[in-house]
Amino acid sequence: MTDIQSLTDFLIEFRDERHWAQFHNSKDLAIALSIEAAELNEIFLWKKAEEVEEVEKVEQQKIADELADVLVYALMFAHRNGLDVETIIREKMKKNGEKYPVDKAKGKATKYDQL
Ligand SMILES: [Mg+2]
Repeated sequence: MTDIQSLTDFLIEFRDERHWAQFHNSKDLAIALSIEAAELNEIFLWKKAEEVEEVEKVEQQKIADELADVLVYALMFAHRNGLDVETIIREKMKKNGEKYPVDKAKGKATKYDQL
């Protein structure tokens, strides 16, 4: 059993003990994921670039909590849709590697169609 599968099992058990599966359709899981990502963004909202490292230190626990929320909903969304997390990440990164070949993208933050 992978760590990801073990985590997903833990989340599903947590959900099922509370009879929350009825609320966890793809639409609401996607919305919840997006809201939690926004809560992560909110920690950095209006901070100047030179303040970001300080925010990372001062708000470390809050950042961890919000990132955990994002990952929880991502795992539950994957479970709901029968998606194997490791497989979809590897497949997507293969596509990203083709869009961003090392020789063209190294050290650049340019979008693939501008390389
Ligand atoms: Mg949250």
